[in-house]
Amino acid sequence: MGIMSQMESLNGKDLQPLASIPLGRLRRNATRLHGVCRFNKGVDKRDVNLSPTDVREVALHPESLKSEWLQYAEFLMFHEFLHALGHGGHDSEFRHLEAQWPDKEAKQMGVNFAVHLRKHNAKFTWKCPTCDWQTERSVRSAGRYLCRSCKVKLVDFVLTAN
Ligand SMILES: [Zn+2]
Ligand SMILES: [Zn+2]
Repeated sequence: MGIMSQMESLNGKDLQPLASIPLGRLRRNATRLHGVCRFNKGVDKRDVNLSPTDVREVALHPESLKSEWLQYAEFLMFHEFLHALGHGGHDSEFRHLEAQWPDKEAKQMGVNFAVHLRKHNAKFTWKCPTCDWQTERSVRSAGRYLCRSCKVKLVDFVLTAN
């Protein structure tokens, strides 16, 4: 919030109500969602007059709150707060405001965080029996996937611990 109050692009916005938004955590095993801004029941996200009082909760992935990801979590929080400030979707104005976040490295951490979550939640390794290529996943491949180079079915191995 301190950083947001110094951002020129947010000049004139009342940021104070953001402080009252309840903060929550996503389910630990969420893999695709890193953060979410949940509006109150019946609120239309496309409403141009959205405000922080329409927000029920901002939730972040619990893994992002670990010290090595905090830098990314701050960016996530900023992203969700932009939704709370009245930008329901990811339109060009939203992307413009999002790009004003001073920590440029933080946004890029999203890609690594996604990889991290996948490994963290992995229960299986899919291995190619021919070329030894492998990847970690939360579900079995169950014969549905082929190795891209060898075109043979990947084989599931159960991971015992993360
Ligand atoms: Zn968003
Ligand atoms: Zn292969």
